[in-house]
Amino acid sequence: MAENAFAIQDLPTEKEYVIPDLPVNKDYHFFISYHNSDTATVHTLVEILERKGVKCCYYERDFIPGSTLFENIREKMSNSVHMLIILSEGLATNPYIKHEITEALHRRINDGYPIIPIMVEPCTVPADLKNIRYIDAKDVDVSEMPSLIIDAMVKNKIKADYQRTTGSEVSIALTRYAGFPRFLSLSRYKLDINENVRRNLRYSQFDLTNHELKEIEDIVNSSYLVQYWHIFSHFVLVASLLLFIVFMLSICVYLTVMITITGLTEDDSKSTLTALHVSISVVILAIFVSYCFCWNINNKMSITSKYSKLAAQYKLWQQLVHALSPLNQEAREKGRIILFNFTSAELKLIRYDFGICQAQFLKRCEQQDRLRAWMRNGQSLKDYTDLLFDNFVKSERCIRLTEPSATTRHTLSNGAKCLCLLIEEDLS
Ligand SMILES: [Zn+2]
Repeated sequence: MAENAFAIQDLPTEKEYVIPDLPVNKDYHFFISYHNSDTATVHTLVEILERKGVKCCYYERDFIPGSTLFENIREKMSNSVHMLIILSEGLATNPYIKHEITEALHRRINDGYPIIPIMVEPCTVPADLKNIRYIDAKDVDVSEMPSLIIDAMVKNKIKADYQRTTGSEVSIALTRYAGFPRFLSLSRYKLDINENVRRNLRYSQFDLTNHELKEIEDIVNSSYLVQYWHIFSHFVLVASLLLFIVFMLSICVYLTVMITITGLTEDDSKSTLTALHVSISVVILAIFVSYCFCWNINNKMSITSKYSKLAAQYKLWQQLVHALSPLNQEAREKGRIILFNFTSAELKLIRYDFGICQAQFLKRCEQQDRLRAWMRNGQSLKDYTDLLFDNFVKSERCIRLTEPSATTRHTLSNGAKCLCLLIEEDLS
């Protein structure tokens, strides 16, 4: 899914590249791995890269004296966002470089550490790096290499952003219970946010207070659509059964009236018998038709369950949106919203971080006039996107973020379309 969601045409062209800020826990954009014979090339590269704002780390300048090579490699690699490997002859034979590559490959598997090899002279690629695409700079002047490196770095960064899951989801199963008196009442469902669920929510960074959880619980449990979802989701079946019973009763009443008021003569009994035959045929036909109708709808399109689920979802949505609005107002400032989805026997709480979508949308607005169609005179692009996102997450259109979709730009944990895509669709 993540692979498909990433579209090459979404990448900005080179002129709009901005060197990504370093995360708070990193000191360098690149840890550079190279053979001594390439020292001159590395010095030139680092000089140009650092002038452009790309921080580099290399052995001669940045390794701390007193620490072993292995300690230095481990620490400096942890403090770098990417690894740059200068591919040349001699690389494969150096044991320290071999160690650096092994260490980087481990990190790549564990944390997705990006490795960018660049071939500066004709040479054999070490076996471990054979399946990683390298920058071919064999016939390129050293002064042109930095822009190729920055290009690869930005594309890797964007790709990583695209593939980051933007939020998380916690499902809370409804609990089934019997009403009172036990043998007479239908079973019902309720939402029980117990300690296990709370732990789960905390673990998924939902930041909901006990008071807010209690409020959600109360709203959900006061909804008849939730309590009797198993009946509402088979609405046509239940309705047909009721209709059938009413129909049978009316025939009984009709026959009783016929018999008691008119009395039975020999001729009458014949006509009564005919009426009985006709009635039975009609009843059988009615059973057959309603059975076909229910079967058709339940199996082929599951319209009934879909409609009653949608109704339940919508009704609950209005109530919960109201209850969650102070909470979501606070969350919106942090670039996240809390959504929910009601499916059969469970309530899903969805935490959706839309920071990535918003950053991406801002970038696309800069490129495309049609996205700025509703922008007011003098309004800054940042204010415009803030307002668009704010209005969208406050509105009921947000319900679309709870439905899975085949296409999305960013990966949502529930597989729904991402916010930037929905807003763009609305604008065009
Ligand atoms: Zn998005």
